[in-house]
Amino acid sequence: MISCEGYATKHVAVIGLGKSGLAAARALCRSGARVLAWDDGDAARDAAEAEGIPVRDPKRINWAAMDALVLSPGIPHSFPKPHDAARMAKDAGVPIIGDAELLATSGASAPMIAITGTNGKSTTTALVGHILEHAGRDVEVGGNLGPAICDMAMMERDCAYVLELSSYQLELCPSARFKIAVLLNITPDHLDRHGGMGGYTRAKKNIFRGQGAGDIAVVGIDDDVSRAIFDELKAQKGRKVIPISSVRKAPGGVYVDGAVLIDDVLGAAYEVMDLTALLNLPGRHNAQNIAAAYATARMMGVKAQDIVKAIESFPGLAHRQERLGELNGVAFVNDSKATNAEATAKALVCYDNIYWIAGGLAKEGGLEGLDPLLGPVRRAFLIGKAAEPFAQYLNGKVETELCGDLETATKSAYAAAQADALKGATVLLSPACASFDQFKSFEHRGDKFKTIVAGLSEHAALVDGGAASA
Ligand code: ADP
Repeated sequence: MISCEGYATKHVAVIGLGKSGLAAARALCRSGARVLAWDDGDAARDAAEAEGIPVRDPKRINWAAMDALVLSPGIPHSFPKPHDAARMAKDAGVPIIGDAELLATSGASAPMIAITGTNGKSTTTALVGHILEHAGRDVEVGGNLGPAICDMAMMERDCAYVLELSSYQLELCPSARFKIAVLLNITPDHLDRHGGMGGYTRAKKNIFRGQGAGDIAVVGIDDDVSRAIFDELKAQKGRKVIPISSVRKAPGGVYVDGAVLIDDVLGAAYEVMDLTALLNLPGRHNAQNIAAAYATARMMGVKAQDIVKAIESFPGLAHRQERLGELNGVAFVNDSKATNAEATAKALVCYDNIYWIAGGLAKEGGLEGLDPLLGPVRRAFLIGKAAEPFAQYLNGKVETELCGDLETATKSAYAAAQADALKGATVLLSPACASFDQFKSFEHRGDKFKTIVAGLSEHAALVDGGAASA
């Protein structure tokens, strides 16, 4: 657990008692802070109280006497409308911070590696953690993904923290200085929470704010906004700035040429590895994640050949194009995290003959944008509320079957794939929809898919599966 000794005897409000808030409240209480905690949900409040964490309605807190407000990343402090507690804290001049700030001020001497971006944060964070662990380093990997920051151990100088940080968390850690700060990409997202694209970009840029001489920025240059940030950082003195790209040459950086990862960090470009065979990190989007993770690990002093071995053994993350294995020549891929068409687009370009399971609770825009990518789709197996509208949308483009539920869809897709007996046949769950009409979450949907696939394999061996369950 993180030590918050700097807050001993200080009055700290903790608002939001989910995983990260509860861990922060516990760490603060343990360090002797005078905590007043709150969550708008009864159950979370009761759970905290049962542990002995003092609970108080923010309206009854004397904000003038508070030293800090630790706010959970999911709770708005400015846009679209500040939570009451955030408004009252601001009016009283109380600093609003997050759990990354508690780590930054904890006194832990291990360097912090922070990773942000609109997409690919979890994958890159897990991959960096995997490479460093593979190289024998002692690391704590978490943040958005994995354990809450305050649940991490206090680590010494020769260890490292690998942190996935969202734009929300980056707004609330003013003291953080990241030894290596990684920005993968920026596309419009969460704009309501940041008051527009300017606010969102500023939040992301905070990842570089505390850096100085000896620190390193690893920056994607494949979208205009990130590229402009790269140019801006490059023009400043102090930190080293390393560009990464999956689509173009990046002199002085790490990039992917065709399918080959190139290391040009020292200005003498050399081929590191061919990415084609990496079944657990498919696609151009993962090439960007790999380039970023490679650059980060190199800067942490890991040898290129050790990084290559670690990338090859990366098991992938659950629910993100997670390869479950192959059954009678048919591969099964769980991409349940793809809750919109944009995410599904990433998966549709990765396989040759796709038996596509889609549907659920459609997002605005439905399947728009996917038309040019439907070539490899042999048939779509549609589930949930979106089944009928998706069938109408796909009419004349792709053959469809209305399957209703996931089990029927999986069995039908497998049967169709077996009947066609095409090379590289893949049953792909990439729903382009939220899951809530039939499941509790995308994780629940993906886990159900895994159970169904495991059931199919009862009489035959599922080969080469074994992706992570993170
Ligand atoms: P995040 O943590 O930022 O949400 P994940 O690593 O969990 O990202 O990946 C979620 C989805 O985002 C993937 O299933 C894929 O569709 C897409 N994705 C992953 N990496 C990238 C990337 N570098 N660029 C664009 N999209 C990506």
